[in-house]
Order: sequence, then C-alpha cells, then structure tokens
Amino acid sequence: MILLSIQAVTEDRREPFVVRLNADYGCRNDAHDVYLSDRDGYRSVYETSSGTTLTLVDLDPVAADGDVLLVVPERAVGHRLIRAASSDNTLVFTERCDQRCVMCSQPPKPTHHDVTGFLEEAILLAPPSATLGILGGEPTLYKAALFDLLHRTLAVRKDIAFHILTNGQHFEESDLGVLRSLPTGAVTWGIPIYSADPDTHDAIVRKRDAFDRLCASLEVLCRAGAAIELRTVLMALNADRLGDLAQFITMHVPFAMRWAIMQLENIGYAEQRWSELFVDSSRDFDRLQ
Ligand code: SF4
Repeated sequence: MILLSIQAVTEDRREPFVVRLNADYGCRNDAHDVYLSDRDGYRSVYETSSGTTLTLVDLDPVAADGDVLLVVPERAVGHRLIRAASSDNTLVFTERCDQRCVMCSQPPKPTHHDVTGFLEEAILLAPPSATLGILGGEPTLYKAALFDLLHRTLAVRKDIAFHILTNGQHFEESDLGVLRSLPTGAVTWGIPIYSADPDTHDAIVRKRDAFDRLCASLEVLCRAGAAIELRTVLMALNADRLGDLAQFITMHVPFAMRWAIMQLENIGYAEQRWSELFVDSSRDFDRLQ
C-alpha cells in the first residue's frame, strides 16, 4: 500500500506549508527543502530552513527522498503530493464538478478549497522531467486559476509536462490565446467521450447538452493546436456502440492524439451500480467489434 497521508508533527507552525524531503544534505537547497537529522525507530526528524523540526511517522526517509509534502500542522498530517520515485503523480485541483457521471470514481463534493498556491510550490519542487497529472472534480471550473498555474510553473520549469483530466465543458473561443501561448507539448488534455450518440453521452455524464458542449470545446482545442487524449470508459450503457464512436472520432476528431478505452473502476458511483454498469470486455469482446 502506498502511504499518501503521513502523521506529521511540527514545532511552532500553524499554517499549512510545503516541504521537499531530503535523506541527506545533497545538492537540493530550496527554502522548502528539509533534511533528515535524526531517525528513531519509526520516527524521522527533519530540520527545516527556519531551524525548526518536522517529525514524520512511519515513513522510510530513503524511499521518500525527494518527495513533496503538504504539511497541515493543525491536523498533524503530511499529504504526499509528489512521490519522487513515481512517474504517476496526480494533483487534485478541485473536488467540485458540474457533471455527475454514473461511474465517477471520485464523486464530486460541493465545496472548493483553493489550494493553487500550494500546488504551485509543489510543482516547482517536482523531480526533473516529471509529468504531473491534474484532475478534479473539474479543474476548468476555475479556468483562470488553472491557466495561471500552468503559465507560472511552465515559465520556470521548462522540463516538466502536465496531463490534465477535464470534462471538456468549459473551453471557449476566448481561451484560444491562452491555450496557444502554452509551450508546445507541455500540456495534454484528457477528455472523456462516451458515445457518438448525444443522448447516450448526456445520460452517462448526467448533464443536458453535455455532448454538444464537449464538441464545441474540442473545436476550440483543435484550433489551439492542443494535445488531446480522448478517454472512454466501457460500460453497459455504451459498449454496444463502440464501433459508432470509433467512426465518429475518425470522422470528427481526427486531430486527437490518442484514444484511451478503459474499464470501470469499482469505486465511487460505479461501486454503487456495479452489476448494472459492468461489462466484461474480455468475455464479451465480440460484442464490442
Ligand atoms: S468522472 Fe469526472 S467529469 Fe464525471 S462527475 Fe466525476 S469528476 Fe466530474
């Protein structure tokens, strides 16, 4: 099991802060760097740049070297935002969303906590050449903040890239300038499309006219020259017409870089409706031709 939340005890700090863990005094010397100074059984004690200590419980400091944590002193917890040894790091931009997809693995929440500042600090501390995922909820509900974050971090870290999951409901003609100004190849937009039939797509995402809005967003992204990864989760509601969707994509979205077809995750809303939604794509493969 990957430990994503760690017990963290701090001295004299109340506000949340971002740190990068160092197992020894190497070449990293950002103000966010903390260095292992003592290890006592399951406790690792780090010195911060301000001379205070941060104690982490049950974390191997060697395995966690280079990891980036958001420490919340009030709750004595460190959220492991970036694991340096992993190529699979994803940052949650917001938990709000304007869709309610029948199989959503992370059902949206009604409130938004703006953590953009912490995410920016964490991204700037990411390992060299990292590709970082950003997801929600729906990140483009806060499009201006998202674009700002991308611009500010990519201006400093020209070696990193982003893969952003979005429901494709909010791109507009007025976004063309900012989309075109992003460095080439630095951002891939992962966008779900569930069916070539608008009613089926809308029923799956549980939002009226979502398919039409998605097509409008795809047009904007096409004109911006953005990299697009289309994503389709197979389920009983759309599996029978996968061929129609393939034709639709070939005809109308040929500018997409990739089409990812994936299975349901047995979690979130999908878990509640598993028997109704699940299609065994290995057993029923002929059905999907
Ligand atoms: S799957 Fe994505 S778009 Fe759909 S409800 Fe969940 S967060 Fe929103």
